[in-house]
Amino acid sequence: MQACYGIDVGGSKIELVAFDGAMAERHRQRVETPAQDYPAFLDAVEALVRGADAALGRAAEAVGIGLPGVVEHDGGRQLSANVPALTGRTVREDLRRRLGRTLRFGNDLQCFALSEANGGAADGYPSMFGAILGTGVGGGYCLGGRLVAGHNGIAGEWGHWSVPAELLARHGLPLLDCPCGLRGCVERYVSGGGLSLIHRHAGGDGAAAPEIVARAEAGDAVSEAALGVHREFLGHTLAALIMAMDPHVIVLGGGLSKTRRLYRDLPGAIAPFLFAGVRVPPIVPPRFGDAGGARGAALLSRLHAPS
Ligand SMILES: [Zn+2]
Repeated sequence: MQACYGIDVGGSKIELVAFDGAMAERHRQRVETPAQDYPAFLDAVEALVRGADAALGRAAEAVGIGLPGVVEHDGGRQLSANVPALTGRTVREDLRRRLGRTLRFGNDLQCFALSEANGGAADGYPSMFGAILGTGVGGGYCLGGRLVAGHNGIAGEWGHWSVPAELLARHGLPLLDCPCGLRGCVERYVSGGGLSLIHRHAGGDGAAAPEIVARAEAGDAVSEAALGVHREFLGHTLAALIMAMDPHVIVLGGGLSKTRRLYRDLPGAIAPFLFAGVRVPPIVPPRFGDAGGARGAALLSRLHAPS
């Protein structure tokens, strides 16, 4: 196969990695993201691509780009909270015009899933779900190593269905509005910020998620209780995901994926919410994790995923 580039656009950095036909890395460059300046953003991406062309001695035709946020269905305009400069812009069209070659686009969640499905923690499984658990919650679904994007390109967005009122009532937690426009979204309760909120409601100080995990491991009862409630919400929502998509393996990503006890405790938290006879699939840590963004973007260019 021919060489390809993967470009991972994040809130603070844009990274380009060039791969040869065997997906071995040949060149890598990172620059700051001009998060507030759209012309400077286009210039930065173009400079990265031209730099890679020069480093390889020829231009790779296949380029995949992972962009943060979503694209409006009508008009193709980007909506991005992490890189405000992109919001309202026709990013895909503008980059295609600038670079004059075939571009494939996806989001950071899809790139994570694709990278883990091909040579990563889910390599060889017939289907996989990459579930990001961090500041935000989302994911991507791959069948046979290929990404399933869906009718709206949002397959795998598991953070915005509702938590059951019964679970909220059981733990005395409020029904929260979500920036997406809906109410009671799973993301508000199972993200890193969600764990802090639960900690505050359990009588704690609402510390950051890694601190709550560290305190629980040191024997702090309030932090342990908060983790228990958080695990119940997570168990409920992952059970819903398993019953809807039935992936052969779930790979966790994002900040909370570094919590080792999660891999031990989650199967038992999911099982009570599954109907009889349904098995919890293996839940495993990522191989590439956040570092797989550019790799996943390069795979987008190869596997003819969305757009
Ligand atoms: Zn939401």
